[in-house]
Amino acid sequence: MSAAQPNQNAIHGQAAATADAVIVGAGFAGLYMLHRLRGLGLTVRVFEAADGVGGTWYWNRYPGARCDVESMQYSYSFSEALQQEWQWSERFAGQPEILRYANHVADRFDLRRDIRFETRVTAARFDEASGRWLVETDRGDRVSAQYCIMATGCLSAARMPEIPGIESFAGGIYHTGHWPHAGVDFTGQRVAVIGTGSSAIQAIPVIAAQAAHLHVFQRTPNFSIPSRNQPMDAAYEALWKTDYAARRRQAREMRTGILYPLNEQSALEVSPEERQREYEGRWETGGTAFMAAFKDLATSQAANDTAADFVRGKIRAQLRDPAVAEALQPRNHPIGTKRICVDTDYYATFNRDNVTLVDVRRSPIQAITPTGLRTRDSAHEFDSLVFATGFDAMTGALTRIDLRGRAGRSLAGKWAEGPRSYLGLMTAGFPNLFMITGPGSPSVLSNMIVSIEQHVDWITDCIRHLRARGLACIEATAEAEDAWVAHGNEVAERTLYPAANSWYMGANIPGKPRVFMPYIGGVGVYRQICSDIAGKGYEGFRLTAPDAIADVAAE
Ligand code: FAD
Ligand code: NAP
Repeated sequence: MSAAQPNQNAIHGQAAATADAVIVGAGFAGLYMLHRLRGLGLTVRVFEAADGVGGTWYWNRYPGARCDVESMQYSYSFSEALQQEWQWSERFAGQPEILRYANHVADRFDLRRDIRFETRVTAARFDEASGRWLVETDRGDRVSAQYCIMATGCLSAARMPEIPGIESFAGGIYHTGHWPHAGVDFTGQRVAVIGTGSSAIQAIPVIAAQAAHLHVFQRTPNFSIPSRNQPMDAAYEALWKTDYAARRRQAREMRTGILYPLNEQSALEVSPEERQREYEGRWETGGTAFMAAFKDLATSQAANDTAADFVRGKIRAQLRDPAVAEALQPRNHPIGTKRICVDTDYYATFNRDNVTLVDVRRSPIQAITPTGLRTRDSAHEFDSLVFATGFDAMTGALTRIDLRGRAGRSLAGKWAEGPRSYLGLMTAGFPNLFMITGPGSPSVLSNMIVSIEQHVDWITDCIRHLRARGLACIEATAEAEDAWVAHGNEVAERTLYPAANSWYMGANIPGKPRVFMPYIGGVGVYRQICSDIAGKGYEGFRLTAPDAIADVAAE
């Protein structure tokens, strides 16, 4: 724990005083939510499992961890002073810098005093008689609050695959999403990485440069675009800062919440030469804007194929060994339908003599052994094993809490066939329980800070509305929720996304229902829908006076 992060757990074990609101999580969502609710004059208690703020950027300290939304955009916009004074050192910020930023925000807005660190919320139950949530933690806290706000993160429930023998491994075992704070020195070691998603793609080049030998166990190759990261250009920074508010406004209207050049043409309406030029230009610029090369890459298989072929060609061109080049080219999903990756020297890393790619789709992993790993066809020995195997995304952090709404009904039970929500903000039967970037909202398909700010602002306005009118409760109606889920599915079905076995679809977790979880209608469109609904007196929500909360249950 750093000096900037005092231990504030002195009163653990005692029943805490009641609060107006409990917030679970102190990542970017929880921090901003706390700031806004304080602004309304509410008493707020935040619980955070980590011993510091920052969420994703606190936990994911693996080598190479970096943002792939430009620093000038992956930052809060709510405070003009903050966005003017903070200076990013690189085009795409690395994890340590983003974590410093989160700590700076916590200090600048004096947020720590309401955050209980090293405290995991284990349960929260809605009491229909009082209309309040009773929140419980693993440290014995019990807090009664009117509002319960889940800022638990979409990618915070790290997932270890169930491979027999894991516990027998004698060397070091790591998960990218729970990386040791002291760092790991792989010098001279034989290292294995399981997984080739975004985290692995960032970590592999850095680990390869340090380790004696690296084995990469790949089940599904991914498409990755070079980041072309570079030190922050002073003129570029100035360009943003002279015009920050206007640029932020524009970004909020974009489909992804990221301001970058969109090409409104179809990939199929231009000549092959023009298409190639567009892709080459974006490849040279680097980053996720590659996917905005044409308007129909997410909706037309034929258009998508042109982008996928281009990237496959780039992968081939970077590799010396044709067999390795073949193995690294994705062929089982349209480009972008699994989260597009962004890398620095990922493919070239496989030209190194000390790196071996093992295709575990052809020859599946059978067991971890005390000294390594056995696939169907071969055995491999190593000193350290890195799981870059991802997360129980979008729902995992929520369903790991024993959340119970009206009539004691559990959220995990309600979502057994897939998450259901109204706007990704609330779920029927759970009054006054808000989710920040919950399933059913654009969340992971966007610059998440843009989506977080939009949700936090909406929730703040909503609570202000309730209090100004002496209302005690807001909850989504079942009808509004059904309609929103149907709309979300319908929009998703118009795209290629459901074709992929992605974590967006829950496909990375055995037994998880196959449902496209984020809302793919676009950040700008979604924002407008949320504003319109609030403007119509929270259409689709039931707002109740203090003496009417329990009546709803009887309906
Ligand atoms: P988180 O940062 O996940 O914070 C949630 C917090 O809640 C955590 O600190 C967790 O400990 C706490 N918590 C959860 N459950 C409990 C509980 N029961 N009790 C107490 N505390 C709890 N997004 C982008 O837009 N661009 C990117 O380039 C990008 N890169 C990413 C890279 C990585 C490696 C990962 C994993 C994610 C990335 N994301 C990116 C998504 C990223 O998660 C969001 O951008 C953002 O940081 C989410 O903030 P949050 O506060 O909503 O959630
Ligand atoms: P991920 O995308 O889910 O990747 C997990 C990888 O592990 C996949 O390659 C998966 O293969 C593999 N895997 C899982 N279980 C396995 C098993 N039993 N055997 C073999 N392989 C297995 O997770 P992630 O890389 O941590 O990324 C998660 C998300 O976090 C990203 O999609 C992104 O949204 C965010 N992120 C962003 C950045 C960034 O650049 N800004 C960096 C890191 C993370 P299959 O594909 O076959 O399942």
